Amino acid sequence: AKVAGRARYEVGDTIGNAAALELLKFEQGLRRAIDNNQFDVYYQPIISLGDGRIVRLEALVRWHHPQLGLLSPASFIPVAEETGLILPIGEWVMHEAARQVQEWNATLTADDPLSLCVNISARQFEKHRLVPGVRRILEQTGLDPACLELELTESLTMQDAVLASEILRDLTQLGASISLDDFGTGYSSLSYLHRFPISTLKIDRSFIGAIEHRKESRDIVQTIITLGHNLGMTVVAEGVETEAQMHLLRSLQCDLAQGYLFSRPVEAHRVAAMLKERRQG
Ligand code: C2E
Ligand code: CA
Ligand code: CA
Ligand code: CA
Repeated sequence: AKVAGRARYEVGDTIGNAAALELLKFEQGLRRAIDNNQFDVYYQPIISLGDGRIVRLEALVRWHHPQLGLLSPASFIPVAEETGLILPIGEWVMHEAARQVQEWNATLTADDPLSLCVNISARQFEKHRLVPGVRRILEQTGLDPACLELELTESLTMQDAVLASEILRDLTQLGASISLDDFGTGYSSLSYLHRFPISTLKIDRSFIGAIEHRKESRDIVQTIITLGHNLGMTVVAEGVETEAQMHLLRSLQCDLAQGYLFSRPVEAHRVAAMLKERRQG
C-alpha cells in the first residue's frame, strides 16, 4: 500500500510510530472492506410532519470491522476521505441503497414510492466522476431518478462554486434532486441557495436539540423554514428526539422530520418490517 503523502507524515509526527502503524493497518483494512463484504447500509426514515408517513430513507453506512465490531461512519469516513477510498465506498453505498429502495418501491411501496437520500462527500465532487457514476447506478438498479436525493454540505458547494454548479446541474438533468445537509452550520452565502438547484434544506440537529428551551434556536429554525419555503424548497428537521420538538416543528410549518423519535438508522430487514406494518395500517 502507498503510505506517502503529506497528511500521513503529519500524523506520524504528532501521534508517534505505534499509532501511525495502527492507522496504516486500519487503512489497509478499509481498503479490503468492500471486497470482504464488510460494509452495510442502514436506513433512517424521514417522516412527513403532516400525516406521519415515511416519505424518504437516508442511507447511512456502517462497517463491520473484523476486530473492532460495528463502526459508525464518524470513525472511518475521515480516513476514507483522506485516502480517496470514499470514492469506491460512496459508489458501493449508492448502488446498494438504490438497488434496495428500488426493490421496496417495486413491491412494498409501489403506490407511494420512497425517495432515497445519499450522502456525498467533497472528494466525490472532485473531477467529474460523480455524474457518470450516478447515471450508471440509476441504469443498473432501475431506481426512478426522481426518487434519488443527494445530500451535500455547504462547505462542499463553497469550495469551487463554478464546478459545483456544473455538477449539480448535470445531476438535476439526470432527474435527481439536491439537499443541503447540516444547514445553518456552514458559512454559506445565501446567494448560493438560488444559484444552485437545491430542492431541500436539512436543518442541522444542533438547532433542533435546543428549540424547546432556547428562543434563539427557535427563531433560527423559524427563519430557515420561512427562507426555504420562500425559495420553493422542502425543509427537513434533523435529530428530532422528543414529541415536544415534533409538535413545535409542525406548528412552524416544517415539512419533514428525521430523528430517534421516529426511528434510529436500522438494517434493511427492519425497514421492510416497518414498511409492511405501515401498509397494514
Ligand atoms: P448526517 O448526514 O448528518 O447523518 C445524520 C446522523 O445523525 C446519523 O449519524 C444519524 O444516526 C444521526 N441521527 C439521526 N437522528 C438522530 C437523533 O435524533 N439524535 C442524534 N443525536 N443523532 C441522530 P451516523 O449514521 O453516525 O452518520 C454520521 C455522519 O457520517 C453523517 O451525518 C454523514 O455526514 C456521514 N455519513 C454516513 N454515511 C455516509 C456515506 O455513505 N457517505 C458519506 N460521504 N458520508 C456518510
Ligand atoms: Ca445526511
Ligand atoms: Ca445532517
Ligand atoms: Ca453531518
